[in-house]
Amino acid sequence: MSMDLSASLVEKIKASVDRQRLLDTAVALVEVPSPTRSAGAVADRLAGLLQQDGFSVERPVADWPEAPAVAVRFKAGAPGRTLQFDGHLDTVHLPFVPPRVSEGILYGSGASDMKGGIAACVEALRVLRETSALPAGGLLLTAHDHHEGPWGDRRQLYALIDAGYVGDAVLLPEYLADRLPLAGRGMAIFEVTLRREGEPAHEVLRPYEEPNVLDTGAELVVRLRDLREQLRATAAPHAGCDAVFVGKIASGEIYNQHPVECRVHGTRRWVTPGTVEAVRADFYRRLEDLARASRTVITADFAVQGDAFHIEASDPLVAAFQAAHQAVTGRTLPPGGKPFVDDGNTFASRAGIPALTHGPDAKGAHTLQEWVPVDELIRLAQVYALTAVGYCASPKEGS
Ligand SMILES: [Zn+2]
Repeated sequence: MSMDLSASLVEKIKASVDRQRLLDTAVALVEVPSPTRSAGAVADRLAGLLQQDGFSVERPVADWPEAPAVAVRFKAGAPGRTLQFDGHLDTVHLPFVPPRVSEGILYGSGASDMKGGIAACVEALRVLRETSALPAGGLLLTAHDHHEGPWGDRRQLYALIDAGYVGDAVLLPEYLADRLPLAGRGMAIFEVTLRREGEPAHEVLRPYEEPNVLDTGAELVVRLRDLREQLRATAAPHAGCDAVFVGKIASGEIYNQHPVECRVHGTRRWVTPGTVEAVRADFYRRLEDLARASRTVITADFAVQGDAFHIEASDPLVAAFQAAHQAVTGRTLPPGGKPFVDDGNTFASRAGIPALTHGPDAKGAHTLQEWVPVDELIRLAQVYALTAVGYCASPKEGS
């Protein structure tokens, strides 16, 4: 495919990104607190900013009346692909840190994760409209709540996708800037509860044949350790390998009491897209085997955070992105893995579209010290705008 980013076009886009306007937008979003499930006020703020700019803004409820989502469609006029920019407006539940700008750095709640990135998306949208640089196709900007776990369950993104708020490909401005994430593992958080009948009892008074939940919990940990070794054989380029991890085991009150319950918490990760149900079924089958052997009752919560993710290196989105990155920074990004599960995994599995995560080189996500260089937001807006030019210009396959 042709990646026709002429020097004059690149200069025009770069020069059109307005530093102060972008920064003002980021500050306007950061200054409205929006812990997950309470992003209504910041969604209203974003919608207001876009309306002031003359965009026609939709507010799909998308299964979360508390904070209707924000969506803007912008069309170039000629047929072509639609590139989506998608961001989450909610932040993790930590004490609110108001925005502050000092020596070219933006600080505050959501500065890194991911209101700064959303502001860059808005700026890219403005620039593409002002410069008329988008030759064909269009853009779809979506922003929503319910992202950060464990408070959110991603229901609003699911509903947005199901309602058709989906482009032909999507960019997500999470804080990852040093590699092009071509693959990432799926992940589930499990919490296994092992129980026996009866009451807690003194060690020496218990019926000797009674099931022992603490022994059984320890046996589960050992079995999962053995499974982890087997899973290492299931690997994929950039993603790593399948894994299971136990981070917590809890049981017992005092040293000589025979307990009734044991809990084992951990994660299961996998590299093969489309295998959520097989992975889940395998996990529960192992628990059933152990329950039978130990005569305990084992229940489990297996909360899937996202399926495994993969994008072809030959995808037109990758080519358009790399051309844009080269034009703005002088280099392409090395291919790599996505270390976390983000909404890109959901777009890939639920909407079936290619998804690329690329955001500012921002620090402190999920801490009280989030900070992002304003230069990084400018770079991001430039890369997003130029990616859109290259991606949207080409006709959709089959059209
Ligand atoms: Zn995020």
